[in-house]
Amino acid sequence: MKEFEQGKLMEVNGQDAWVIAGLGVVTADLPQGNDMCGVLRHNANKGCRTCTASRESLTNFSRDVPATSRYHHITDDQFKEIFDEPATTRQRRLCTEFGLRTRPSILDRLQEKGIYRHLKMCELFSQKGEDEFIKAWKNLEKPKKWSRLPNPISRNASFMMSDYLRLAMIMPFILNSFLESSSLKENESRSILRRIQESRINMAKNVIIACWVYVAKTMRIVFESKFTLDSYDELQKCLEEEMKILPKAYNYS
Ligand SMILES: [Zn+2]
Repeated sequence: MKEFEQGKLMEVNGQDAWVIAGLGVVTADLPQGNDMCGVLRHNANKGCRTCTASRESLTNFSRDVPATSRYHHITDDQFKEIFDEPATTRQRRLCTEFGLRTRPSILDRLQEKGIYRHLKMCELFSQKGEDEFIKAWKNLEKPKKWSRLPNPISRNASFMMSDYLRLAMIMPFILNSFLESSSLKENESRSILRRIQESRINMAKNVIIACWVYVAKTMRIVFESKFTLDSYDELQKCLEEEMKILPKAYNYS
């Protein structure tokens, strides 16, 4: 899996293909799920893998859920504290206190959302571009029933799958509303122009917008509620276009 996150050359139907894959969803029953998260089993005092509620407060309706939830950056520190404790008894006590096992799960070593690397827009934007992007993203009217999207640049790590889908849908409109050559880092636009063998500076931004149009089109088909034989053809075409344009807009090496 680690190799797949970096990308791996494989033979698919007699053709060489560059395959990038990452961990998406894991299904497990309750005890096994806790093991996989590095959280103590559910009979422990803090045996819930999404929050740190103690056993007595599990039925407390007025509990402050956001304040007592488990967060990666906090659990990481707690695992470190447990790991750094040389005395076994004190290590046990820390495990009980945090509701964690002595070691994080092996799955923690995988990069979450490895396949979404190309969604990291900030690598292309200049400071001006980043400010403009945030402004345009805030100003764009989003459907009322969407939950609030986190800031795509600073809160990228807290994005859920559905947030990525929504962002992908509105991305072409956002980019189209502000993107100029000056919104991109100079070296980034130069390398885009080199990859598409163009000299007109404007073409760099056009490639980025076109790329996001294909991402949005592909996502729409992938999550279509009905799927016919024609949809497969359409999906195949979109994937091919996306495959051609992604390495032009984003540097994968
Ligand atoms: Zn809980």
